[in-house]
Amino acid sequence: MRKTIIAGNWKMNKLVAESVATVEALKPLVAGVDTVEIVVCPVFTSLYATGQALAGSNIQMGAQNSYVKAEGAYTGEIAPQMLLDVGCQWTILGHSERRHILGETDAFLNEKLHFALNAGLKVMFCIGELLEEREGGQMEAVLTRQITEGTKGLTEAQWEQVVIAYEPVWAIGTGKTASPEQAEEAHAFTRGLVCNLFGAAVADAVRIQYGGSVKGENAAELIAKPNVDGFLVGGAALKADSFAAIVRAAA
Ligand code: PEP
Repeated sequence: MRKTIIAGNWKMNKLVAESVATVEALKPLVAGVDTVEIVVCPVFTSLYATGQALAGSNIQMGAQNSYVKAEGAYTGEIAPQMLLDVGCQWTILGHSERRHILGETDAFLNEKLHFALNAGLKVMFCIGELLEEREGGQMEAVLTRQITEGTKGLTEAQWEQVVIAYEPVWAIGTGKTASPEQAEEAHAFTRGLVCNLFGAAVADAVRIQYGGSVKGENAAELIAKPNVDGFLVGGAALKADSFAAIVRAAA
C-alpha cells in the first residue's frame, strides 16, 4: 500500500512572513490527517522560518532545487546539506521550469538526484512532456528518456527515498488538467518503465504524484486512479484553504 503524498510547490512566491502565515493557517486545517504525507516547498529565504513554524506538526518541508556540491565556489547555488540544516526533508528536482527555462539536462538532473540522496534528502523527481511532444506522439519516448537517463544508477534503497512527479508541461499553471484517464495512462506507463529498469519491487513501491492544475474540485477523481499516488500542486498550494481542500479530498 503506497501512502498518498501531496506537496505544495510555492515556486518563486511569498516573503518570509507570508510563508509563515500560510503554514500557520494550514496546520489546523490538516491537523490529524495521517493517511497523507503533506509537504510544503517554500523559496530558500523562507525555509528556516517556515521550518520553525512547522515544528511538531504533520507537515514536512522541501526545497525547490539543490546543487551537486556540499560547499565551495558555486555562486548562487544551494547544497542539500544546507537544506537539511534548515529543516528540509525533501527537494524537488527536474521541475519543468528548471528543465525548460534554466536548461537543466537529464544528465545533470541525474547528478543532482544522486547527490541529494547521498546527502540524506528525499527527492520529488519531476518528469513530463511538452504539448507538442504529446501531440507529436512523443509522450512515451520523452518519459522513457527522462526516467532512463534521470534515474540511472539508483539502488533499491535509494528508490525508497524518491517520489516521481508526472507533470505534463501543458497542464502546469494553465488550468488545463490531464483527465484522470490521461494521468493514469502516463503513470502506468512510468511505473512499467521503472519495472523494466529496476524490477517489480521498486516499481510497486514507488509513489507517482500527478501535477498540473490540481484543485480541490478535481483531486478526488484523479486520486481514485490506481497509479496516482498523490499530487505536486502549484497554484492551489499558495493558499492554505485550497491546499487543505486537496489534502482532504485525498485523505
Ligand atoms: C507545479 O508547479 O508543479 C504545478 C503543477 O503547478 P500548478 O498546480 O499551478 O499547475
